[in-house]
Amino acid sequence: MDHTTFTPVLDVVAELTERCDRCGAAAKLSAIMDEGGLAFCGHHANRYADGIARAAARIQVLPDFRWAGMAAASTVDTPAPRAPRAYRNSR
Ligand SMILES: [Zn+2]
Repeated sequence: MDHTTFTPVLDVVAELTERCDRCGAAAKLSAIMDEGGLAFCGHHANRYADGIARAAARIQVLPDFRWAGMAAASTVDTPAPRAPRAYRNSR
């Protein structure tokens, strides 16, 4: 679990009562943004993962949902990793 690389705050919640704003399916992810909240089903949360990670201040996900944006969020605002420890062993 690497929480420090996320731009938005990511919360795992036991349940979400919202419905996907795109298709109306049960939400797996809820994003809180400046202009309000948006909810997404698993399909749409992954589809818009990059945009969500960029726009949301806070994100709530269900514990069983593996959101694609977890990877996207860590690369959006993070400079290319230098991994100094890897270099140490390679030479
Ligand atoms: Zn949907």
